[in-house]
Amino acid sequence: MTMEEMIAQAETDLLHTYNRYQIVLDHGDGVYLYDVNGKKYLDFVAGIAVFAFGYNKKEYNDALKVQIDKILHTSNYFYNEPAIRAAHLLKQATGMDRVFFTNSGAESNEGALKAAEKYASLKDGTNGHEIIAMENSFHGRTYGALSVTGNAHYRESFGTLPCDVKFAKFNDLDSVKSLVTDRTAAVILETVQGEGGLNPAAPEFLRGIRKLCDEKGLLLILDEVQCGMGRTGSMFAFQRYGVKPDILTCAKALGCGVPVGAFLTTEEVAQNSLRAGDHGTTYGGNPLACAAVCKVLELYEKEHLVNHVKEISPYFTRRLEEVKSRHSQITEHRGVGLMQGLVFDRPVGPIIQKAMDCGLILINAGPNIIRFVPPLVITEENIDEMISILEPAITEVCG
Ligand SMILES: *Cc1c(COP(=O)(O)O)cnc(C)c1O
Repeated sequence: MTMEEMIAQAETDLLHTYNRYQIVLDHGDGVYLYDVNGKKYLDFVAGIAVFAFGYNKKEYNDALKVQIDKILHTSNYFYNEPAIRAAHLLKQATGMDRVFFTNSGAESNEGALKAAEKYASLKDGTNGHEIIAMENSFHGRTYGALSVTGNAHYRESFGTLPCDVKFAKFNDLDSVKSLVTDRTAAVILETVQGEGGLNPAAPEFLRGIRKLCDEKGLLLILDEVQCGMGRTGSMFAFQRYGVKPDILTCAKALGCGVPVGAFLTTEEVAQNSLRAGDHGTTYGGNPLACAAVCKVLELYEKEHLVNHVKEISPYFTRRLEEVKSRHSQITEHRGVGLMQGLVFDRPVGPIIQKAMDCGLILINAGPNIIRFVPPLVITEENIDEMISILEPAITEVCG
């Protein structure tokens, strides 16, 4: 089949929930991807903030192969060694106390919301508490995660959603405070909003929410599915703020290509929320996924990946700032670490398409923002190459 024939086949067989770019990817190596025609692309998406150390990483691939030949799946009625090790490593990386492995980011948030509701209901003996979430947030596409996603467009076709949610303005502490009632169970937010436009929480905002939660007995749920795992220059973004969540959710780069997520709780939440029988998953925490998590966390340590992000980020920031200064169509430059965005005064689709034609893979965050979430191993040369393709694409499209 030619690439065009494959795409035509896909459009007949797959449910059309995505407007996909018209290429079929075949394999990757380092920070480069190749389509089925052999065309090479510099990748500044990393499978949406997933492939932290790039593609075809030998040590990682080998670890998975070894696990495949041992056992792929056990169910959660039994212990398995990779899950035991992965949970311990993840506790060390996050500073949290207890781990529940899931298969995705959305599922991690589902579990976090259930834990928060259970915590509140054990405390006051009633059900159906309220959650405060943020405008422009993104927490996933399942019903519960969608309930707390502050994007009307994603929610509007789906009627009444399961959680009782109020939306506050991100980085506006008073707006959060004004929504607290005696029915509020938790506040959920992304430490750095991803999909909603690369917005970091202001330090005083996040610290203010922590204080508010402590005063009112609410749980703070931080969704670090996208901004966690080193992307902002610390292992988890909250670690830069001197606050700690009661529940943390994680996925994307946690498995670096194998679908796995997790939610983590403090011991206080663990002892006073979900109990045996309250929550479960068939695949979550299976040996293959957890072998990936173990190897990923090991490689982060061994390769000082977070430190690399810290070192490379100022250069990336400076180069994007220069791009902005040269193109009047760019109205804002946002983000932190290797999670940055350029806001345009127009839809960015044609720029992304042009860049792709010229061998650079980018994605958007909303219609007007180009989002940069490259593999964490990128070098100054990779950044220069990216900009050498991006700028002519901007000029060609915007004039
Ligand atoms: C991607 C994302 C999710 C959803 O993760 P899935 O694995 O797609 O379910 C949730 N929260 C944030 C912040 C995300 O970026």
